[in-house]
Amino acid sequence: MSMLNRIVAAHPLASQEPYNRIKFSRVDGNGTPLYKVGHDKKELGAAAALRSALEKYGAKCFHCEKHMPKQRLSQDCTRDHLRPKKDGGGDYLHNLVFACGDCNRRKGSVDLISFRPEVGGKYLKALDEHIERCLKHLGS
Ligand SMILES: [Zn+2]
Repeated sequence: MSMLNRIVAAHPLASQEPYNRIKFSRVDGNGTPLYKVGHDKKELGAAAALRSALEKYGAKCFHCEKHMPKQRLSQDCTRDHLRPKKDGGGDYLHNLVFACGDCNRRKGSVDLISFRPEVGGKYLKALDEHIERCLKHLGS
């Protein structure tokens, strides 16, 4: 896999269920990364891949780390953008996380990073470090 593909495929929580079930497949003609979930042959965009992974494997709440068993997206298990859509946050794998209903309701309209700064800060640091590592490889 090329370095660029590894950057695209990266998620700071990549070692965690269900992210570890999502494998980068390829970038389509529009530059959209496509993924495969588990042993599925079907290629999905990031948001659909996360939905499918939740339905098959369950997920952890990004904020309180409560485990949520496999289920469909609902008010009790939401998929949210770290960087809100209105601020240009896209449907990229690294920009999407799961939140349980309690956290989602408590969070209100606050963005995910500001809601619990410690959790958000840790996540952003991991993402920064990953990108830095990749850029170093690209430059060498
Ligand atoms: Zn929670």
